Amino acid sequence: MSEHPVLSLVVPCYNEAAGLASFWARASDALAALGVAAEAVFVDDGSRDTTLAVLAALAARDPRVRVVALSRNFGKEIALAAGLDHARGDAVVPIDADLQHPPELVRDLVAKWREGNDVVIALRRDRATDSAPRRLASDLFHRLFARVSVVPVPRGAGDFRLMSRAVVDALRAMPERTRYMKGMYAWVGFRTATVDYDVEERAAGDSRFGLLKLWRLALDGIISFSALPLRLSSFLGALFALVALAYGAWLVVRTMVHGIDVPGYASLMAVVLFLGGVQLLSLGVIGEYLGRVYDEVKARPLYVVSARLGFPPGGTDT
Ligand code: UDP
Ligand code: MG
Repeated sequence: MSEHPVLSLVVPCYNEAAGLASFWARASDALAALGVAAEAVFVDDGSRDTTLAVLAALAARDPRVRVVALSRNFGKEIALAAGLDHARGDAVVPIDADLQHPPELVRDLVAKWREGNDVVIALRRDRATDSAPRRLASDLFHRLFARVSVVPVPRGAGDFRLMSRAVVDALRAMPERTRYMKGMYAWVGFRTATVDYDVEERAAGDSRFGLLKLWRLALDGIISFSALPLRLSSFLGALFALVALAYGAWLVVRTMVHGIDVPGYASLMAVVLFLGGVQLLSLGVIGEYLGRVYDEVKARPLYVVSARLGFPPGGTDT
């Protein structure tokens, strides 16, 4: 690797062995067509299939290929962080290994970068390849996120984008462990342009994101970019305290006017149970934040690398 790469692709891979050869066939052509020095940093995110062996074979054949193997599955967001740490290009493009992000679009991203933009987002036109419930859920989440988040995230924006070195360094300086990338991209800012593309079918295998993983991601997103749930629970608390005060006053007046009557079990139970529910919910909300704070203060490294392939001997030169 004598030549300093202008462009780095960062490719997170989790159990992608079946599709990697066709991915690199298309991506390497797309890179070659750019006519600039380029590299691809593949991150093996603890795959349980032969992904690492396939990547090692690619790296042995092609000096543009570098591989970072993580010691276990850390999740796509962390795999991306590892890739960004190892990418040396003046511009970096994270791209999925399943060919849902057309590598040919990188040319358009680079063109807009050359025009002076620091970030060029590839916006998907629609998610026709996703199932209807998943589309609905994602739509709902993005509406909610847009309302509560401190930073706006453009619709249809994902990880597929070009970032200049300045942007990559800004992201790398964010040490948080709960990495909601879409929010982090928006948070760092910089001059941004967009390019449209149609998302393609997955080339091989199924999505690595089950419903549960998406739910965690959505929760992470909202909690790391909004304190609204916390504020909501204190608002609810204040609201119920006021209502209880008014109700108590009314009871006092009623007792003075009508004397004491014993019935009231139903209303009492209703109020007690309802308030108990609200308290548990608020505790849960606080717990979600506290858990993440705990994760952060432990300050563990984001990821553990088990192997690096295609890097010059004597450590990394990132
Ligand atoms: N991925 C990863 N680690 C994970 C899950 C996914 O590195 O724990 C990678 C995966 O190999 C792919 C990309 O992230 O390159 C996007 O994953 P996928 O296609 O499953 O997500 P979707 O397209 O359904 O959003
Ligand atoms: Mg995909």
